[in-house]
Amino acid sequence: MITLKEALKLPKEEIAALREDIRRKAEERSDLNAYIALDEAGEGVPLLIKDNIQVKGWSITAASKILQGYVAPYNATVIEKIEAAGLSPFGRANMDEFAMGSSTESSFYGKTLNPHDPERVPGGSSGGSAAAVGAGVAIAALGSDTGGSIRQPAAFCGIVGMKPTYGRVSRWGLGAYSSSLDQIGPMTQNVEDAAILYDIISGYDRRDSTSADVEYTPVADNLNPDRKLTVAVIDNYIKDASKEVQSAYDTAIKALEEAGHKIVHKEMMGAKYDIAAYYIIATAEASANLSRYDGIRYGNRAEDVDNLKELYLKTRSEGFGEEVKRRILLGSFVLSSGYYDAYYLKAQKVRHLIKDEFEEVFKDADLILSPVAPTPAFKFGEMADPLQMYLSDAYTIGINLAGLPAISIPVQKSAEGLPVGLQLIGKHFDEQTVFDGALSLERAVAYEK
Ligand code: GLN
Repeated sequence: MITLKEALKLPKEEIAALREDIRRKAEERSDLNAYIALDEAGEGVPLLIKDNIQVKGWSITAASKILQGYVAPYNATVIEKIEAAGLSPFGRANMDEFAMGSSTESSFYGKTLNPHDPERVPGGSSGGSAAAVGAGVAIAALGSDTGGSIRQPAAFCGIVGMKPTYGRVSRWGLGAYSSSLDQIGPMTQNVEDAAILYDIISGYDRRDSTSADVEYTPVADNLNPDRKLTVAVIDNYIKDASKEVQSAYDTAIKALEEAGHKIVHKEMMGAKYDIAAYYIIATAEASANLSRYDGIRYGNRAEDVDNLKELYLKTRSEGFGEEVKRRILLGSFVLSSGYYDAYYLKAQKVRHLIKDEFEEVFKDADLILSPVAPTPAFKFGEMADPLQMYLSDAYTIGINLAGLPAISIPVQKSAEGLPVGLQLIGKHFDEQTVFDGALSLERAVAYEK
């Protein structure tokens, strides 16, 4: 598949043929169920869009039944930005319902297959975006990452996925899951494309009150893989990973050292606290954000009801899937009076400790290298227990809690031929270093697709 960098250089006349080619390829691989629909808007270089980002005139559903029939009345800021850069939305990417999940199994449109093994998940929640790019049926895609939803599917499908610093990319027009954690980011075939797409979508937006009004210097034109960096590895983290992930980790450390970077060893509190804090904060915010889907304002509305309360109840009971309901219940519980201090407030305090701990490590390092997921892509149904699925987010969610930028890069394949990705985590708003390190690592490991 042509890279984003190459596609952006094509003369206008060739783009129509490119769009046609991608449509044909996507149709040929309809078995993957990566695309919910092959909608098109505009005539630029085609970019796949996760089904929770508003594209004017498209039916945007966050892969939920409750949003069936809803038509987006406006473009998200990122859509305005990609259009200004010569790209156009092309296709709605499958995802976990409301971005809640790590496997894309909870989509109302059915599961997406991993392009490397049809019995395995593509990861989630941006599984459609990752599978399409990994299968060579999309040039690049936009995803969203609340607790790993860009990085983990990227790692499972053998592509690059990047979560920017919280506040770097406007969330205006992104269907809100957990507003203090959500970020939109690029999912691409390589690091350079990720930098290009990141530059296109980044920047302050007054329509998003959490958008950061900080100076922005484009990264793609300044990429420098020759900078010598100090990379921290968290020794106690890796112990819980599978042997495939440990092996990729060893490969990456060796490659980084050979490329002239310095490795320093650290320890962090890690998963136990990250998971507890995340699944309180994310569900609390989700329960509030999803209260707007009441059958009155958006999408599906239940029929045969006698009064307003019944309309709400029936619409929400019929419209939301099991995992979404579980999270609304969890979130309502942790916010309820009597439990607020014990859960929500405490989780916010833990969040601060997590952030402080990262800052401590960053006193001695430019980047942190860590696994993205404990294992390569797992099989469908393997994580039937929700708690087990939550535990698989161990390596990604702390980064969202701390608001840091991170990029997932494919490092090597397992004996079974499954991609294993690792992430480089950077300091707040230091995306330049994240991309510089990522480009160096990408070259050093020379992953073969
Ligand atoms: N797996 C995590 C969750 O279910 C992260 C999802 C995401 O980043 N959107 O919440």
